[in-house]
Amino acid sequence: MSTEIMAQDWGRMWIGGKWVAGEAGSRPVVNPATGQAFAEVSEASVAQAQEAVATAQRAQPAWGALSPLARGQIMHRIAAAIRAEAEPLARLVVREQGKPIAEARAEIGGAAEFFTYFAEFARRIQGEILPSDAAGEQIWIQRVPVGVVAAIIPWNYPAALVSRKVAPAMIAGNAIVLKPHEETPLSALAMARIFEAAGVPPGVVNIVTGDGASVGAALTADNRIDLITMTGSVPTGRRIMETAARNLVPVSLELGGKAPFIVMEDAELDLAVASAVTSRFMNCGQVCICNERMLVHARIYDAFMDRFVAATRDLRLGDPMADTTDLGPKVSLAELEKVERITAEAIAAGAEPLLRGGRPEAAPVAGGFWLTPTVLAGATPDMAIMRDEIFGPVVPVTRIADFDEALAIANDSRYGLSAYLFTNDFNRIMRAVSDVRFGELYINRVGPESLQGFHTGYRNSGPGGDDGSHGLDHHLRKKTVYVNHSGSSPVRLMPW
Ligand code: NAD
Repeated sequence: MSTEIMAQDWGRMWIGGKWVAGEAGSRPVVNPATGQAFAEVSEASVAQAQEAVATAQRAQPAWGALSPLARGQIMHRIAAAIRAEAEPLARLVVREQGKPIAEARAEIGGAAEFFTYFAEFARRIQGEILPSDAAGEQIWIQRVPVGVVAAIIPWNYPAALVSRKVAPAMIAGNAIVLKPHEETPLSALAMARIFEAAGVPPGVVNIVTGDGASVGAALTADNRIDLITMTGSVPTGRRIMETAARNLVPVSLELGGKAPFIVMEDAELDLAVASAVTSRFMNCGQVCICNERMLVHARIYDAFMDRFVAATRDLRLGDPMADTTDLGPKVSLAELEKVERITAEAIAAGAEPLLRGGRPEAAPVAGGFWLTPTVLAGATPDMAIMRDEIFGPVVPVTRIADFDEALAIANDSRYGLSAYLFTNDFNRIMRAVSDVRFGELYINRVGPESLQGFHTGYRNSGPGGDDGSHGLDHHLRKKTVYVNHSGSSPVRLMPW
């Protein structure tokens, strides 16, 4: 199928098992490395988004009635097909999103793994049997599909996030309508080809392309939706939650982050430096769990920063299709300009560049959205760059005097997704475990998060979460069944 993936007709989306052209015009897809459009994707009308919900609603009962094993078998076929098509899919991610090919290959590996992992729940979606207060009765709590899921995803992992949303929905017996980000829709469309070939029944999965304000808003406002799962920014998450409130629909929101990266004086320095670099600069800094602000103990500050700046300088900016590239372009000019603005404001506020990046004079490829790394010392907790998400190759650093100060600064954030701690002191580790108020805590290691974990944020990082058995839980609702098998039917209000 690989040639098919690269030569796919991008002008059509997948609704009700059919490939249909969008009725609301089209939009070019731009390669961030070159700034050139290389595909044209059609956009759904509001009516088409609503038709996708209707077709999902029609398809769901039969899908939900299949045995989980039968659903899981289709999902195993999807995982195998993603692995078989790994290279063209990875190259597609690079072309539409700009991350280095090595990272894109890892993303596609993850995209397959989500299907394998959730397919394995086929025999593990268990209910409960409770004793009744009366003889000859049982109470069952079943876990049943929620129904129709609307999924909205951002641009930073255009393939893996499709799997993260679709796989748990499928094993739970739900139907799903997924809207990719308007700037990176191709991976989702390529995955739809794989779903189709793997035998996903028409309407069980629908991929609808279009922009957030029309298609995204239409999906999330539709009162036939039973669960909204969205990954993206805080303002969009807030808007979706307001919309969902009107229909009293549950939401699971994976929003932004502002991860503190704490390095204490007893940390293993080489590990801490390598981890800090990876965590800040992977995917050009465009990861929700990225190292967004470094809090480094005064006693090792100079040694750490010397090595960190040197390692950052060594990162190889280059064509993202090259195996040797560490740092690709930003995803878009708008994102590049946003990061430039945040950086300039921080410097104007007194942050001191230890390394001053910017648009390179000799970009690896002409026309792309290239930005080299910046490291800013002397950042104070009140600066916007220490409070707002950067989502790019720029990192502010604060010198801290002790662990209490690090904890206080770390927790003083309206975000609460991930936090990092590098230390070998057991007591500090245990204090962090109890006192760090973030949904994910990484101790002496970097991400990515694991499939069996629970990817969840506190505060503005959004309610809900993905992955693991807890992520699956959102896709299942409970039904309590009271069963009288006593042979009689006593009428009683209070059995005790
Ligand atoms: P975004 O909020 O701009 O867009 C996300 C999606 O929402 C897109 O598909 C967009 O079309 C859609 N959308 C926009 N307006 C909408 C509306 N009114 N109704 C419904 N849908 C609408 O976010 P982005 O710029 O694509 O992504 C970057 C953000 O995503 C960052 O803040 C990042 O931290 C966050 N993110 C979070 C996680 C996580 O797991 N917590 C993972 C990746 C990215």
